[in-house]
Amino acid sequence: MRAVVYRDYGVMPELTDVAEPACPDDGVVISVGATGVCRSDWHAWQGHDPVPLPHIPGHELAGTIAQTGPAVTRWRPGDRVTVPFVCGCGRCEYCRAGDAQVCPEQTQPGFTGPGSFAERVAIHAADTNLVALPDTVDFVTAASLGCRFATTYRALTGHARLCPEEWLVVYGCGGVGLSAVHIGAALGARVIAVDVAGPALERARELGAGHAILSATNTDPAPVIHDITGGGAQVSLDALGSPETLASSVRSLRRRGRHVQVGLLLGPAAAPPVPMDLVIARELEIYGSHGMAARDYPAMLAQIAAGVFSPARLVGTVIGLDQAGAALAAMDGPGSAAGMTVIEL
Ligand SMILES: [Zn+2]
Ligand SMILES: [Zn+2]
Repeated sequence: MRAVVYRDYGVMPELTDVAEPACPDDGVVISVGATGVCRSDWHAWQGHDPVPLPHIPGHELAGTIAQTGPAVTRWRPGDRVTVPFVCGCGRCEYCRAGDAQVCPEQTQPGFTGPGSFAERVAIHAADTNLVALPDTVDFVTAASLGCRFATTYRALTGHARLCPEEWLVVYGCGGVGLSAVHIGAALGARVIAVDVAGPALERARELGAGHAILSATNTDPAPVIHDITGGGAQVSLDALGSPETLASSVRSLRRRGRHVQVGLLLGPAAAPPVPMDLVIARELEIYGSHGMAARDYPAMLAQIAAGVFSPARLVGTVIGLDQAGAALAAMDGPGSAAGMTVIEL
């Protein structure tokens, strides 16, 4: 089959012929219909997040089941499916409780093994990890849910319990941040977007942000946010992932507010200071969000099918597998306001 492969970190990925993936006993082989290009793939390609080499990237996929292992009971060839980027083992206490997103034995296509920049990809523990796609959700849209939209949906609904009329602040308007703006506005929240780039803020306004703060001219947006909201936001989300945006996000909150950390804090930023004095005095809640388990997808997909959310609005460019290597290499730099890039096969 054809797949996009890189031989070493930073070496341009190439479209080439590789062996077919073996079908796990408890898993499936999926014929990939579409797969998203994500900054996490770029980080792995750069060697920030070690992967087995040579490597096939790709973790935001949707497609049709081509083959099922003998232990699979819930799925059959021909089913249209998508998969969370964190796949659980299906056996541990977390997976049994429906929280495969924190499974200690988790696998991640495109990181722990070959990914979906390929005609076919193998997924383990299919009965735990696969999600059925409604007929009305096409593969490109489903792939764009990938890690960004689904993780953000869970951050706002599962962790932050965002309600209509509440204030939501979104720090960083890349893929996660723009998803948060769109989902927050669709849920009836009043959204304030913060970014260092004007075009990203314009896009945030188009997607429903009522206020946009250009943070380059305002190093700590928290006081401005307290003014706009009359005492702070009920919910704030750090979509960027930096010690500064984390601290500003916590300082932006109203008493009893909820902060959710979605932007990854890697390397030297892995253990940032948190204003715990405010967490205590204002009784703030701090959450980390690490994807969304298959169990929680049907509620989100039902809202997409009903037109509450329009993830297709977040898709910028649709390309072919032959353009995937160049698209991955071009992910250097801040998140693009142009929207997500999705590969269609
Ligand atoms: Zn598990
Ligand atoms: Zn991703």
